[in-house]
Amino acid sequence: MSKLELVEISKRFGAVEALRGLSLEVASGEFLSLLGPSGCGKTTALRIIAGFEHPDVGKLLVDGRDLTAIPANRRSMGMVFQSYSLFPNMTARENVEFGLRIRRRARAERTARALELLDLVGLAGTANRYPHQLSGGQQQRVALARALAIEPEVLLLDEPLSALDAKVRVQLREEIRRIQTSLGITTIYVTHDQEEALSISDRVAVLSLGCIEQIGAPSDIYREPRTRFVAEFVGTMNRLDGKVNPDGSIECGGLCVAHGVALGDHAPGEQVIVLVRPESIVLEELPEPQAASGDLFEGRIVAHTFLGAVTRVTVSVAFGAVTADLPSSRALGLSPGTRVSVRIDPSGVRLLSIGTSGPGSDGSGPTGGGSGGSGPTGEAESPGEEGSATAGGLPTRSAASL
Ligand code: ATP
Repeated sequence: MSKLELVEISKRFGAVEALRGLSLEVASGEFLSLLGPSGCGKTTALRIIAGFEHPDVGKLLVDGRDLTAIPANRRSMGMVFQSYSLFPNMTARENVEFGLRIRRRARAERTARALELLDLVGLAGTANRYPHQLSGGQQQRVALARALAIEPEVLLLDEPLSALDAKVRVQLREEIRRIQTSLGITTIYVTHDQEEALSISDRVAVLSLGCIEQIGAPSDIYREPRTRFVAEFVGTMNRLDGKVNPDGSIECGGLCVAHGVALGDHAPGEQVIVLVRPESIVLEELPEPQAASGDLFEGRIVAHTFLGAVTRVTVSVAFGAVTADLPSSRALGLSPGTRVSVRIDPSGVRLLSIGTSGPGSDGSGPTGGGSGGSGPTGEAESPGEEGSATAGGLPTRSAASL
């Protein structure tokens, strides 16, 4: 188990500043995800850790040892890439053995270790199959076993699941976490899928434009976004333009929308961005029109998006629209056109000062999360897939990490 530190790392490619003074500490045995949209610098950070790129400025330390100038093949990093990057002419076992072979381990030891690892990743019966005889998920398990074979100090995974279908992705991410926990290996996982990052990490670092916007436990990132960018990238979020009233309640478009919100540093009279998760909006059918009272106001259902157990509902209100998540069984009774009372649970409201950094669009309204799990407004950012191709073209590159 090893502690890893990035100290003020900057990297430029011509006019592009891929990383801007990135500092990060990953504790021994920790599972940390780098989460962010395409082009924010995640892969560059991982490649610098692996030794495939050299930083312009800054240092990389593992257990206090400065590895910045050490070439990739002399670092103890196991890497798994988006493309399975197995050697096509080698069996699963031979692929897993590869790193041990170039380290000149005895044949019997190599084989025993490879079989043990194939067993660990759930592929005990497939040691003699070639990559083309394995499914995508199985190939990625072999790639994981291969990365682990050399007993690396740090395991690096670059969008390892993005080529797989949704169900296999969920299964395999749980497997990766189980194996990582059982081995206690320090792990950095790059993804643009917020659900993936939140579900398997000890901590998540949200990156934007080569910098960390926020780092913390998944629940903190989700519940306490500190910038507009994080609020909008992670999960679906209603973002309303509001004001703190003299009595501490929150007003949007002249309507009181919440009482009892934790105001933090926000003073009465201040204009604020009001952030509300869809699950914090409570809807009740309203048979007759009713004037707003207290923190209840009126709305009308305009659209439904069925998401399985939950249905995401768009509600038109006096100051625009809000998105609410309801159990699907309840949403059935609130069809489009239904008049509803709207209440915002104050414990689910976060306030940001106007001007808090972030490249999100202006104006009120719900925004979707980075996994592409967008809300019905269609405003969700859907990070592209192309950038992680930088990790493709292996096996030659993976060989360097083995
Ligand atoms: P993705 O999720 O799409 O993989 P990313 O967050 O991993 O994106 P990087 O691949 O680290 O982003 O790229 C960061 C920026 O640096 C991008 O603007 C990218 O185009 C640029 N970049 C990365 N590698 C190179 C390179 N070898 N030459 C030129 N520009 C590069």
